[in-house]
Amino acid sequence: MKKHNFSAGPCILPQEVMKKASEAVIELDGIGLSLIEISHRSKEFIGIMENARSLVLELMGLEGKGYQALFLQGGASTEFLMTAYNLLEKKAGYTNTGAWSAKAIKEAKLFGEVIELASSADKNFNYIPKGYAIPTDLDYLHITSNNTIFGTQIKKFPKTNVPLVCDMSSDIFSRQLDFSQFDLIYAGAQKNMGPAGTTLVVIKEDILGKVSRQIPSMLDYKVHIGKDSMFNTPPVFPIYVSMLTLQWLKDLGGIAAIEKINDKKARLIYSEVELNPLFKGFAAVEDRSNMNATFTLTDDALKDSFEAMCKEAGINGVNGHRSVGGYRASMYNALPLESVGTLVDVMSELERTA
Ligand SMILES: *Cc1c(COP(=O)(O)O)cnc(C)c1O
Repeated sequence: MKKHNFSAGPCILPQEVMKKASEAVIELDGIGLSLIEISHRSKEFIGIMENARSLVLELMGLEGKGYQALFLQGGASTEFLMTAYNLLEKKAGYTNTGAWSAKAIKEAKLFGEVIELASSADKNFNYIPKGYAIPTDLDYLHITSNNTIFGTQIKKFPKTNVPLVCDMSSDIFSRQLDFSQFDLIYAGAQKNMGPAGTTLVVIKEDILGKVSRQIPSMLDYKVHIGKDSMFNTPPVFPIYVSMLTLQWLKDLGGIAAIEKINDKKARLIYSEVELNPLFKGFAAVEDRSNMNATFTLTDDALKDSFEAMCKEAGINGVNGHRSVGGYRASMYNALPLESVGTLVDVMSELERTA
């Protein structure tokens, strides 16, 4: 039986996408060949790449606005250094809102001055800092829209005239935003789009070409744009699956439609966390994430029974990250509302029987 999959990443993908993807590994669209044995320069794969890239811009409402979508490799972790390599000439501003932003800061420091404009480290990253000043002479401001480990999410993005770079790995395509407020968005595929192995980069072309250093070709966004995201052999399978997921999202009604479902899932879990005296939310209420809900038991003695009940109900992947403890329910786009319902039933059952 298929489990209720709350895994934080890699994570659940739509069932129909996985079915189509598995079929394409045997034979792609009746062409007598597998997706993974054809040239990336074949007309079939070029079609897949073009479709994936244009679906990204279409879903984000960025068509004709000077943006390019790239499917790269090396994960979001490579973007930590690549963004700085391509954009950091003198100094950049970063907000430190969790483990991933701390890693981004560490990499950027190899390329120039990094100013930490705000941090929530004082409370183990359980909130989003607000109201910090943004110098106007920065090369860019880097933020993390959703802090996967801690379960916090930016609801209102900073207004600034400097280029805005956003690590959107764990909430991309989950809610409607004015995506044109960002100049560069990156996201590892494995949280809301596809299997691990490709990284989506959406970039406003006119922010490039402003640093004086030489950039190695593989790390140069301009090179990848010039080659239509095919500078070298792209990871064909994760890109194909990402394309199928983006198509699934479009058929569902796009980001507006998924946002409604995501809101319902989040309301369901958080209302249980609030009403059930056995549980306590980790993140500040106004900043809590619609993708990753973090919470703990108020009585540690109930740990074994709660976890046994989860297992019995077919619930997978709710253990919290070691730096937070407790539990984390990741509710990415493909997670059905019923799965959250099952988890909430287990939580209220625990209250009845404890
Ligand atoms: C998972 C994650 C990363 C790391 O992604 P990789 O693809 O493993 O390098 C970076 N940032 C955020 C916000 C994440 O959730």
